[in-house]
Amino acid sequence: MNQVGNLLLLPGDGIGPEVMGEVRKVVGWLGDRQGLKFECEEDLAGGCALDAHGVPMTEDTVKLAKDADAVVFGAVGVAKHDANPFHLKPEQGLLRLRKELDLFANLRPAMVFPALAEASTLKTELVEGLDILILRELTGGVYFGEPRGIETLADGTERGVDTQVYTTPEIERLASVGFELARKRRNHVTSVEKANVMHTGVLWRRTVTALHKKGYEDVELAHMYADNCAMQLIRRPKQFDVIVTDNLFGDLLSDAAAMLTGSLGMLPSASLGAPDAIGKRKALYEPVHGSAPDIAGEGKANPLAMLLSFAMMLRYSFDLGAEADRLEKAIATVLDKGIRTADIMQDGKTLVSTEAMGKAVVAELDRSLS
Ligand code: NAD
Repeated sequence: MNQVGNLLLLPGDGIGPEVMGEVRKVVGWLGDRQGLKFECEEDLAGGCALDAHGVPMTEDTVKLAKDADAVVFGAVGVAKHDANPFHLKPEQGLLRLRKELDLFANLRPAMVFPALAEASTLKTELVEGLDILILRELTGGVYFGEPRGIETLADGTERGVDTQVYTTPEIERLASVGFELARKRRNHVTSVEKANVMHTGVLWRRTVTALHKKGYEDVELAHMYADNCAMQLIRRPKQFDVIVTDNLFGDLLSDAAAMLTGSLGMLPSASLGAPDAIGKRKALYEPVHGSAPDIAGEGKANPLAMLLSFAMMLRYSFDLGAEADRLEKAIATVLDKGIRTADIMQDGKTLVSTEAMGKAVVAELDRSLS
């Protein structure tokens, strides 16, 4: 048996534990059938951590995450904690982890499986075969810049302030991940900002251009303003390969790109940190969706976003590209066979539960070996 690495599983709240259950099946399959053994620890995050410990993430959990080779995260969020002060909201657990592990590069692929092309709100020919990757800066920019806050002015009105701030190293480290990912794909990067109206945009464009000249001239580079990029994503999404952008624009553009694929239940993501001395990056893999309280506990959740996130983990944290391909292919085959959870259900297809979907994927994995 080949010991591959240590995982920290953080199922979280709502449908998080349900979709994580299907990851465990694949972990078990890799150990039993491929001799690839992952050591898994599990802990609380989000609302369940608040209930048990009074905080959305304990120091011990942060330490476990730092020691793990990769963190696999479900989803957090429980309505009863919505009124909590900011630092005691379930989502703070996830934000803390991103900050503590310095996960600055957020990878959000938008892929349209052939069997689901019709589920998109765009015309089939616009999205069929779509495979783009949005790389979003995750630890800087306007969500963290100082000063920030709301103050009361002398006349009794209020003033809200957020600050968009980026440094050259922050831009360089993200753009270099973008160029490197593009080399493994279709070799094209679109760098997105608003250099026409924002100083951070001017610095962003200048820095990406200089980095490109310095070490990545083999990769094709284009620049685009964020508002135009939003239009182009809807107009002709297949023109893109890798989009590299900041925290705020990445948040918006990746959600727009997500909808090209038809369902939140199909969208994986990865967040990577800087490489250490031996080239290993801290990493967290999670579906894009939240805890879906409206369907939690009903066996209706689509586990494929979670499983596709796990496939990204195999590829980016453990260099198991062939196993990642095998898992993605198993998922595509299950969809081709018409097996569907409720969120991606179409006429004439077979409606299954979360668990049955996981089982069907594992059955396809088995078939791939015969
Ligand atoms: P959501 O993603 O949880 O749900 C939006 C809609 O999509 C719901 O109708 C839900 O049923 C459906 N959906 C989501 N994932 C699905 C899946 N795998 N299969 C089938 N249907 C799915 O977003 P929301 O309703 O805005 O937020 C609910 C809670 O989740 C909130 O507390 C929010 O703060 C939290 N949230 C957490 C994360 C995270 O953990 N990363 C992300 C987004 C929202």
